[in-house]
Amino acid sequence: MDTNHSVSTHYWHELDNGKLQCDLCPRFCKLNDGQRGLCFVRGRVGKEIRMLSYGLSSGFCIDPIEKKPLNHFFPGTPVLSFGTAGCNLACRFCQNWDISKSRETDRLCDSASPEQLVSTAVANNCRSIAFTYNDPVIFHEYAIDVAKACHQHGLQSVAVSAGYVCPKPREEFYQHMDAANIDLKAFTERFYKKICGGELAPVLDTLEYIHHQTDTWLEITTLLIPGENDSDREIAQLSRWICTQLSDEVPLHFTAFHPDWKMLDHPPTPLETLQRARMIAREEGLRFVYTGNLPDPEGNTTYCPECNRPLIKRAGYMILDWSLTPQGCCRYCGHQLAGRFEPTPGNWGSRRLPVSINR
Ligand code: SF4
Repeated sequence: MDTNHSVSTHYWHELDNGKLQCDLCPRFCKLNDGQRGLCFVRGRVGKEIRMLSYGLSSGFCIDPIEKKPLNHFFPGTPVLSFGTAGCNLACRFCQNWDISKSRETDRLCDSASPEQLVSTAVANNCRSIAFTYNDPVIFHEYAIDVAKACHQHGLQSVAVSAGYVCPKPREEFYQHMDAANIDLKAFTERFYKKICGGELAPVLDTLEYIHHQTDTWLEITTLLIPGENDSDREIAQLSRWICTQLSDEVPLHFTAFHPDWKMLDHPPTPLETLQRARMIAREEGLRFVYTGNLPDPEGNTTYCPECNRPLIKRAGYMILDWSLTPQGCCRYCGHQLAGRFEPTPGNWGSRRLPVSINR
């Protein structure tokens, strides 16, 4: 029976030895009664696997959409952002580890129904709601219900995810998502195995699925960690893969690492590394390559892929200059910019505003 925060799930099956295997993500946790999966928010209760934190959140905040990061999806607009607790990867460098590694339900201090979230987003003039801070793959049922409520009220839904999910639940999930930023954490199985406790191949599969088989707008983020995933060779391979397997118009964001969680022994990423990566990715053919987390006017700017003039200039998350027509075309040469645009940009700026939920 469903209670307030515990709901039935359907991506699991029973094994011959009596354990239940969760089929939501490629970790395939095999659970005895009373056990929780690695993500901690899903667990076996009697004869089924349930999601145990439906409607619970670690807090709500209104962010600029550029912070997700999404630079080609309704630029300048505010997005109501929230996450839950737990994660299905175990990245040693996690920049949100207080949320993602939480085993404490008291981190989940706020609760909100999908309708309450939407009414809060509407009251604050948000254009969308984002599932972020931790991976929405693990709160699949809640995220889908919120996305459905968004669409009933003219809002967009945004997933920020590592893309570590099995094909069937992925198909259901992305039917309801308007935009996604997927972390492509590196381009080697070694990195995924040693540093994240996962695998690269399912993530590449998710990227191909989203780009080729859904209408979800896709951008990709790679956090560069000195000495781990920042070699010229790896950056070139990753960029070439995006260019050839997806499209040269998928935006790629290189962001800077700061020492955190279990990776305090690596230095922060210097700006020169982000700029070098951006140059390599552009040489490989990608048309929209951004740098993030550090001030870099060139790396924050959207250039027209046809005439190379600046179309959207930013300082961090703030839009400084806008040279698109109301139809989303370059004002100078008429090229249609890839993405989703309104006739004028939003003016939310770089604010980050914690909010409480409308009851
Ligand atoms: S979603 Fe959670 S319980 Fe299911 S396989 Fe992944 S980590 Fe394990």
